[in-house]
Amino acid sequence: MKNDDHLPGHSRRDFIKGFSLLLGSAALGAPYLAQGLDRLTRPGEHQFFSGDRAKKKLGIALVGLGSYSTHQLAPALAETENCYLAGIVTGTPAKAETWKKKYNIPDKNIYTYKTFDQIKDNPAIDIVYVVLPNAMHAEYTIRAAQAGKHVISEKPMATSVADAERMIAACKAHQVSLSVGYRLHYEPHNLRAMELGQKQVYGKVKTIKTENGFVMNNAGSWRLNKELAGGGPLMDMGIYCVQGACYTVGQTPVAVTAKFGEVTRPRVFDEVEQSIDWQLEFPNGALASCGSSYNENVSYLHAEAEKGWWHLEPAYGYGGITGKTSEGPMHLPQVNQQALQMDGIAQSILENKASRVPGEMGLRDVKILMAIYEAARTGKKVRIA
Ligand code: NAD
Repeated sequence: MKNDDHLPGHSRRDFIKGFSLLLGSAALGAPYLAQGLDRLTRPGEHQFFSGDRAKKKLGIALVGLGSYSTHQLAPALAETENCYLAGIVTGTPAKAETWKKKYNIPDKNIYTYKTFDQIKDNPAIDIVYVVLPNAMHAEYTIRAAQAGKHVISEKPMATSVADAERMIAACKAHQVSLSVGYRLHYEPHNLRAMELGQKQVYGKVKTIKTENGFVMNNAGSWRLNKELAGGGPLMDMGIYCVQGACYTVGQTPVAVTAKFGEVTRPRVFDEVEQSIDWQLEFPNGALASCGSSYNENVSYLHAEAEKGWWHLEPAYGYGGITGKTSEGPMHLPQVNQQALQMDGIAQSILENKASRVPGEMGLRDVKILMAIYEAARTGKKVRIA
């Protein structure tokens, strides 16, 4: 990565809302993300198995029984068609007991972090889903791959490019698939945003504005610990804006400028940023002005193209996503994103096809996140390799 430019001195809000257009003329690359909107918006119509395979459901083991596993993934696994909750990995015996009863999990499918590697001898577990603090994704993904299990890693895939590369290499070496928990690739409004941008329904995308954040009130959270989280809201919430910009334009950005926001709660934000704004430049000249904060409840994506616009708000939540275009409201269903995501990944494994949300996409995003931090630290424009 190379620094070559200075960041203009905008206020945080100006930086996102008011950036001027600097449009290039390069042609938009081939669409690479939008796919299967029709199928995904009609869950229950899946017809991809025949004969014996029609009965096969893959067993998922959740690693880390925190908030996301407890309140989203485990309930979603009661609705999935291609996979089910087969096992758990937890360091807390009381949780193991509760989950065992609630989800009817046999003792042989319950592991601790110490016994985790024995999962290799358990044919009931096909997929290990790593739902631990960000810095732990690499270790558990690699151990799962070594145990011969397919892996889903939560986002961000890793806290360093080197870790993300090691995760991909381990999964390749052990011939297992690696996916990232990018649930919005299975959400109808976000899929429509991809389609509008990548298929150039309103012409080329010129600008994107997107923010994602929430008010962090849990001072003891690992999300505020640099070592475990890898960073602050950028790693946790801003990654959705990086994703949103990339899948709306259908390209990978080539350069970034960025600026850390003011710290108004220094005791809470003594390790990670409180907020950060950044701007991505795409090969086709499109610009995405993005922001992420642990001090503001915000979630939207706005795209302007040559002949129209579209807007999602909230854009990135588990539900309640709404969208409109310059022609009117999007009439799209609310879905169980996590169920569709896990079903979609399980389907790709069962059919031996590429994942829609592969490790390579997670690696690309970690590279962008690291470039954003470098740009914010140095005040210079950073090229994304
Ligand atoms: P959480 O704090 O609620 O749960 C973390 C789990 O990790 C707990 O069970 C905890 O006991 C366990 N753990 C093991 N070792 C730990 C350690 N050293 N320090 C702290 N916890 C430890 O977090 P969460 O909200 O469930 O997030 C877990 C992962 O899921 C994160 O990577 C996060 O980014 C991701 N996530 C993704 C989404 C999504 O929409 N895709 C939503 C929420 C969280």
